[in-house]
Amino acid sequence: MSDNSTEAIRLQAQRSHYREHSVPLYFTSSFVFDDAEQARAVFAEEEQGQVYSRYANPNVDELLQKMCHLEKAEDGFAFASGMGAIFGSLAALLQSGDHVLAARSLFGSTHQLLTKIFPKWGISHTYADAARPEEWESLITPATKLILIETPSNPGLELIDLAWLGELKRKHNLLLVVDNCFATPVLQNPTDFGADLVLHSATKYIDGQGRVLGGIAVGRKDLIAEVRYFARHTGPAMSPFNAWVLSKSLETLQLRVEKHCENALKVAEALSGNPALEKVNYPFLPDFPQYELAKKQMRMGGGIVTLQVKGGYDAAKAFIDKLQMISISANLGDTRTIATHPASTTHSKLSEQERAATGITPGLVRISVGLERAEDIIADLEQALG
Ligand SMILES: *Cc1c(COP(=O)(O)O)cnc(C)c1O
Repeated sequence: MSDNSTEAIRLQAQRSHYREHSVPLYFTSSFVFDDAEQARAVFAEEEQGQVYSRYANPNVDELLQKMCHLEKAEDGFAFASGMGAIFGSLAALLQSGDHVLAARSLFGSTHQLLTKIFPKWGISHTYADAARPEEWESLITPATKLILIETPSNPGLELIDLAWLGELKRKHNLLLVVDNCFATPVLQNPTDFGADLVLHSATKYIDGQGRVLGGIAVGRKDLIAEVRYFARHTGPAMSPFNAWVLSKSLETLQLRVEKHCENALKVAEALSGNPALEKVNYPFLPDFPQYELAKKQMRMGGGIVTLQVKGGYDAAKAFIDKLQMISISANLGDTRTIATHPASTTHSKLSEQERAATGITPGLVRISVGLERAEDIIADLEQALG
């Protein structure tokens, strides 16, 4: 893990003749050519240049250049949302007959992709449990092309040992795709362990202020070439405005993520042992089941704390209703602390069994710890539990 905060602040699209300090917004659908011959040469990729904003745009390119630095990746493509990045990348790399080995704990819409959408095109999957790594190898078939995981997972906070998985993927010559949304490049770089593609919902910590949607895929040059070809011709491109917002946000990513982690650890420590809770889950709490792995693989514990409220579904909802400052919302990674009840919202479309298998109990509440004063966040949570 390296500190790339300087690149995230200093990399910038080429300065115009106005000598602006902050990058302008390139709001243009297309770009003009000096003559017909230049148009031909740029289209033929003999000459470098912008063509059309579905393909590329200076604001989007700036964001991608920074993300490649942060994730130690060769190349990237930016999408209109995180799901755009996940769908676009998998659709580009997979074909009918291929099989995906996926961690069972995945974002709700990623689960829908694997279980409902990809099967329409003959792409199958098997889920493997993070807690039983010894089983993963036996789930690989001759049709397996790719391994897809989140670590930590949303919202169960399950971790997967990236060093171990990097070995497994090399042994079987598979692609490893990691949704690094929860950790952000500040806390871990999956490419250090051999990940071929790293995906982000830029909507979360990369924006960090709950304003815009965005998705990023970065990784191996040859794979990004396939992703770019697919995306350029199917149209999920990120808008220049969103890229401008997200690129500016990267200037403070390091600072924000460190503070999110400091506040989250304080919240987790303060609520541990609260009589209204069965358990507090946070990767950097010593009683976290994968504490050793978290310490080995992540620089800090992340900004998400989950609470098991005693009394289940109704008690969890009643707790959320008593919050005064903290927002009830589905987003995460915002400066503002947010509480979410996955069983009744983000994961309500899963069956009871599917939820249980991924640790989403009826009483689970996900807290995306924000950047307010830690004592104010803790006071609101404690009064609502009290
Ligand atoms: C939010 C999220 C996504 C989806 O991103 P959108 O920007 O909402 O499309 C994917 N993976 C994880 C882990 C997420 O938290």
